[in-house]
Amino acid sequence: MSSLPIDSAFDVSLPEWLKKCLRETSAKTNTVTDERTYNDYVLICNAFKFAYQLHEGQTRKSGEPYIAHPVAVADLLRDLGGSAAMIAAGFLHDVVEDTEVTIEEIENHFGAEVRLLVEGVTKLSKINFTSKTESQAENFRRMFLAMAQDIRVIVVKLADRLHNMRTLQYMSEASRRRSAQETRDIFAPLANRLGIWRIKWELEDLAFKYLEPEAFREIQQHVAEKRTAREEKLVKATEVLKDRMRLAGIKCLDISGRPKHLYSIYQKMQRQQKEFHEIYDLAALRIIVETNEECYRALAVVHDSFRPIPGRFKDYIGLPKPNRYQSLHTGVIGLTGRPLEIQIRTLEMHHIAEYGIAAHWKYKETGGSHTQVTGTDEKFTWLRQLLEWQSDLKDAQEYLDNVRENLFEDDVYVFTPKGDVVPLSPGSTTIDFAYRIHTEVGNHCAGARVNGRIVPLSTHLHNGDIVDIITQKNSHPSLDWLNFVRTSAAKYRIKQWYKRSHRDENIARGRDILEKELGKTGFDNLLKSHPMHTVAEKCNYHSVEDLLAALGYGEVTLNLVLNRWREVIKVEQPVADIIPFIPKESASSKTAREGHHTTSKTSDSPIIGVEGLVYYIAGCCTPIPGEAIIGVVTRGRGISIHRQGCHNVESVECERLIPVRWNTAVIANQSRPHTYPIDIQIEAMDRVGILKDILSRLSDQGINVRHANVKTALGQPALMDLGIDVRDRTQLENVFVQIKKMSDILNIRRIGQVEESGELRI
Ligand code: MN
Repeated sequence: MSSLPIDSAFDVSLPEWLKKCLRETSAKTNTVTDERTYNDYVLICNAFKFAYQLHEGQTRKSGEPYIAHPVAVADLLRDLGGSAAMIAAGFLHDVVEDTEVTIEEIENHFGAEVRLLVEGVTKLSKINFTSKTESQAENFRRMFLAMAQDIRVIVVKLADRLHNMRTLQYMSEASRRRSAQETRDIFAPLANRLGIWRIKWELEDLAFKYLEPEAFREIQQHVAEKRTAREEKLVKATEVLKDRMRLAGIKCLDISGRPKHLYSIYQKMQRQQKEFHEIYDLAALRIIVETNEECYRALAVVHDSFRPIPGRFKDYIGLPKPNRYQSLHTGVIGLTGRPLEIQIRTLEMHHIAEYGIAAHWKYKETGGSHTQVTGTDEKFTWLRQLLEWQSDLKDAQEYLDNVRENLFEDDVYVFTPKGDVVPLSPGSTTIDFAYRIHTEVGNHCAGARVNGRIVPLSTHLHNGDIVDIITQKNSHPSLDWLNFVRTSAAKYRIKQWYKRSHRDENIARGRDILEKELGKTGFDNLLKSHPMHTVAEKCNYHSVEDLLAALGYGEVTLNLVLNRWREVIKVEQPVADIIPFIPKESASSKTAREGHHTTSKTSDSPIIGVEGLVYYIAGCCTPIPGEAIIGVVTRGRGISIHRQGCHNVESVECERLIPVRWNTAVIANQSRPHTYPIDIQIEAMDRVGILKDILSRLSDQGINVRHANVKTALGQPALMDLGIDVRDRTQLENVFVQIKKMSDILNIRRIGQVEESGELRI
């Protein structure tokens, strides 16, 4: 081995540190400046040269010499701060599997520690994670036994997996998918459990790339497009915070932007059922300070500089995550009015966040074999418990459940009939499972078998269940599924299906829902109105039709639409008058309502039966004192007061009706009588000055006219629409009598949703 020339002799590109290592050991100089000893370097170099010779002539699918892979794995392990033995194991991890060398020879050349690591990794690589329940239990058992001997084995395995995932494009489609699925199901959660964020995020992104290539590319493109703008915003926020931290006397070691990895963006989109452009906090800031106490002070500065978003603050310093992760998290409204995520931590917390258990090796205790799991190491309690249970449990299934619960935290873990493992959120049902397998399986799901028995589709799945979905070509999703599915992915897909296949029905359903709330009168015009279009846009739809469809299949709630509607009509005041069911902000009704709020004496209210409630006079039938009235409990807008017999009230459920009546005593004693806006229509012979004559008669009686609109056509009677304010029924009847006295009047009627009676009928 020592006869080999130095780095230039190897037909593979080597990392700088390895070249340096080779030069110094071959020159037998001892200029070692870091913590590693000369013997460490010798061990590393010998392991490399040994692996190089053994793999010589072998190539990877990429066409590269095989040795490139062990070199890359060793490089990753060195970056994680691995000991010389770990780096050596990185070089040697595939030699027993792929060459003639035995594990005893490894021990002879490199010692017991390297043997243990190589042996552990070799065993792990034989595990097939996609097999049936019994053997799966065995697989996990073997994996944990390997961990028990030395947890570093898992770290070497993770580095191996990461490099294989990085070079996955050279593999066949089938093995790409299998590796990616395994990575998502087993290795990324393991990296997360060990707290090695660096490996976890990259594994997740690579698995994402091969499992959902289209979504991956889409998000990748979106992220690249907006990068510059996003970074500029972060730079500004960073400057503000740096200044404020300095003024507060906090020593800030670093504030920088932290791009989110693609899979986490995708998960967020799925979880919140949002499109990419609706996800605002794509990037986040990380603040690194010196002490725990400064973390909290920095938090105060952040919340003082930007408005915090309620419910977003999390104290993982006081309550660290099980994998030892510590940080303060908060969300604030940034300079551009968009949410900004902020993490605050010390340097040590940062190292642990990035490297997890490997932070031990990298930043504190270097080298050595102190990483074995012992009964005294509190940090590995979860693992120790697992091992203890393992010895107690005879039943493979029970053991498997325990492993699952601990390894995958909250996830439920079920199997396909072929033995593939599918992780699901707790509370997931057979439908969630079906959609997790494939959208088409979900969309055509007709039934399900769990552990061989037919079960209702709403059945909750448990760890270890074997789930078989029965599909039928003409089966399709039911809206009822939305009541029990647990995962947002399933909900999203059910809604997508409805959206696509039932558009007309959805529009009709959405129309009905909205009409019930806003009233029939003028509803069609309302839908075509500008404010309604604005409402659609505010709810992120291109058209009112899209909005109705979304309302129909439940993508938006009625409440949201009504809230937007109220916001819009507040701004576009003039429209309010043509819209039924909206409280008219005329002086009279406003005073009536305000009076109602400002006093607790019920005798002050002009209406009996709405004490302590917000109410308004319905615009569809505009009741006035002297008329029989009824109250309708609206959704979110208090009580609307209608005339009895109003067509809009006919369709209202009885539970929403409340008895009300005018308080005649209060109305009679008002120092300045309230008036109520109503609309009337007059048909008259078309002659010059007819409108003027009518207006003067009204004015004689002290009636205020809010608006008048006259329509004339040659040879036709004139049609006049008038908006007038009246005190009560008696005054209105009087108005009618006076106008009817005019000779040219053909007809006069009140406009509203009620059949008129008595004096108002001609
Ligand atoms: Mn390998």
